[in-house]
Amino acid sequence: MDLALATRLAMNDGRGDPVVGLGVYAIPPGRPTREAVQAALDAGYRHIDTARLYGNEEDVGAAVRASGVPREEVFITTKVWNADHGYEAALRAGEASLRRLGIGYIDLYLIHWPVPKLRGETWRALVRLREDGVCRSIGVSNYTIPHLEELLATSDVAPAVNQVEFSPFLYQQGLLEFCRSRGILVEAYSPLTKGQRLGDPVLGSVARAHGRTPAQVLLRWGLQHGLVVLPKSARPARIRENAALFDFELPPADLARLDALSEAYRTSWNPDGAP
Ligand code: NDP
Repeated sequence: MDLALATRLAMNDGRGDPVVGLGVYAIPPGRPTREAVQAALDAGYRHIDTARLYGNEEDVGAAVRASGVPREEVFITTKVWNADHGYEAALRAGEASLRRLGIGYIDLYLIHWPVPKLRGETWRALVRLREDGVCRSIGVSNYTIPHLEELLATSDVAPAVNQVEFSPFLYQQGLLEFCRSRGILVEAYSPLTKGQRLGDPVLGSVARAHGRTPAQVLLRWGLQHGLVVLPKSARPARIRENAALFDFELPPADLARLDALSEAYRTSWNPDGAP
């Protein structure tokens, strides 16, 4: 498939998820978030990834409303935080996130982390929120194969998405294959390793061979593995750089060199073994 910035990958609920989203984790609320979202929409992004935890839902919503881009063209994700698990609390959290965003509906509402004991009830609340039109699609984040197996065994509704950390340095092939076999789309968070591995020599040599930056190669690698990628930047020039991914392609030999960088390198929390 020929991809473009706003191409939507099919989800198992019949809706589509744009292949590149701006992540807004750690962008301060207020002007910085509004300016980053505006820069992304100007550059052609049609997908913004926020969360209750990030504290900037209001500004994401305000920037989308002010942009003039039609609401239905933009795909906005937010997430239920750990403190809001349980059926009633998650219902309230979803409604409150939507109020803060002020955008009519949430495109994708995710369980941020598989909180033990409560996540099943929280999932039931997300199903209800979708029925009520608070959100259009529902999914999970930081779910490992055992967490997904538990969910699929206890609910008729499969998650549309599993958002997990994913990069060549953390090539989660088994999880990706499991999700694919169950029709669950994988979104890659921290696809740039928070900037920590951009100096890797193998990555650098692939980037030079294609006249690209290391960041662009990491994102293109994710796209060619069928992922939705969620790079974060607060700087307009990098926001544009991270979207210039559709006029080059990594040949199989380069993909293989990048795949081989995998070393279970994580930049944040690790759900492996979480009960
Ligand atoms: P990323 O891997 O996207 O890296 C972001 C860092 O890289 C920032 O320091 C940024 O700096 C820098 N950067 C961005 N573009 C470039 C570039 N072209 N060249 C050099 N440096 C660059 O990290 P995140 O952890 O923020 O992940 C992305 C998104 O994924 C988050 O914003 C969030 O939406 C989501 N996420 C979800 C999690 C979950 O648990 N569900 C956990 C973590 C992230 P600067 O801003 O100064 O440009």
